[in-house]
Amino acid sequence: MSDTTEVMDMRPGDSGAAAFDVERVRADFPILNETVHGRPLVFLDSAASAQKPRQVIDTVRHVYEHEYANVHRGAYHLSERATALYEGARDKVRDFLNARDRKEIIFTSNVTEAINLVAKSWGRAFLEEGDEIIISEMEHHSNIVPWQMLRDEKGLTLKIAPVSDDGVFLLDDFERLLTERTKLVAITHVSNVLGTITPAEEIVRLAHDAGAKVLFDGAQAVVHMPVDVQALDCDFYGFTGHKLYGPSGIGVLYGKAELLDAMPPFLGGGDMIRSVTFEKTTYAPLPAKFEAGTPPIVQAIGLGAAIDYVSELGLANIAAHERDLLTYATQRLASVEGLRLIGTAPDKASVASFTMESAHPHDISTVIDRAGVAIRAGHHCAEPLMARLGLVATARASFGIYNRREDADVLVEALETVREIFG
Ligand SMILES: *Cc1c(COP(=O)(O)O)cnc(C)c1O
Repeated sequence: MSDTTEVMDMRPGDSGAAAFDVERVRADFPILNETVHGRPLVFLDSAASAQKPRQVIDTVRHVYEHEYANVHRGAYHLSERATALYEGARDKVRDFLNARDRKEIIFTSNVTEAINLVAKSWGRAFLEEGDEIIISEMEHHSNIVPWQMLRDEKGLTLKIAPVSDDGVFLLDDFERLLTERTKLVAITHVSNVLGTITPAEEIVRLAHDAGAKVLFDGAQAVVHMPVDVQALDCDFYGFTGHKLYGPSGIGVLYGKAELLDAMPPFLGGGDMIRSVTFEKTTYAPLPAKFEAGTPPIVQAIGLGAAIDYVSELGLANIAAHERDLLTYATQRLASVEGLRLIGTAPDKASVASFTMESAHPHDISTVIDRAGVAIRAGHHCAEPLMARLGLVATARASFGIYNRREDADVLVEALETVREIFG
């Protein structure tokens, strides 16, 4: 990562991320060679799902071709190898999040399942009528609906921590919502719509002072910055593999061991038991207790490869590179007449939502697709946030490790075409 030529050649202005060789990163992503409508692909939708580097693709292919069998089963060579790789991936995740113990890492199919696991296991076992859960106005549906289901089942109260018009998490208002009945605070670590980085340490401190547990939805956080669950001292932390340049079908729930140990299983079946008779079943210890059935074996191993990949680049270097991109893209977007940025919190990851006076987000997305630019348009699985902001949809450009300033230039050029078409 020492070759800085590309960065220095970059126009206009200087890059703040000289340690990061974006061209070398790009060379690892085969899909970036695709053309769309005859134009080079400019992929600005990593917040929906990120592209995969050759290292992940090769790992997945290699496992299927040479090391595949079911895990935790056979006393034969191939199954032992697959098991070692699968459990090795768990060690990589433990390391990545700096969890204390590998048994605190539960593989799920995505972050949605991770959150549902906490709601359906911990929530059902330990919450009672009248207890309170706090979420925020900028949650993804994945961190709203499971709590609503639990609320309706148990007679809980769901409280909503507000955000300001520019997308800042309002800590004082949050603090006022905490009571002795608050049992859980479930908040996104980074907003998928606004890019806002929430004040996680303060949230944990205030919640713990009130006696509540804290869950972070880290789907957008782990991809943009280093995360240390011990330093955060959160109780649960979830993320999803496909946004971290890994395969789809794999997610992670981190939970403190004493909490996970006390929780009943979420799903029942093979692999999560110690012994079964028709009268009684005893459960396996962590982490197997929460991994019923054949797990996403190759997906987990692929996630391990993705973690190796981003760790080698360095999460701090990635954060610096993306901060540079966000600053640049924000300036360029502000130059487009009639464009309004949605979400301008000072502490922000590289997600740029916007609207245009003349065109609906879906029209924006369709028009710029002709120029090869892929962005997301819609409510981004955050309908309550859209309602809060008085919007039905936004266009969203999100920047990942393989994006460069030129991508923002192509985006802005394409948006000028939108303006010409729609006036
Ligand atoms: C994408 C996303 C989710 C859902 O991820 P899945 O992989 O679909 O489970 C949840 N929360 C946030 C903040 C997200 O960005």
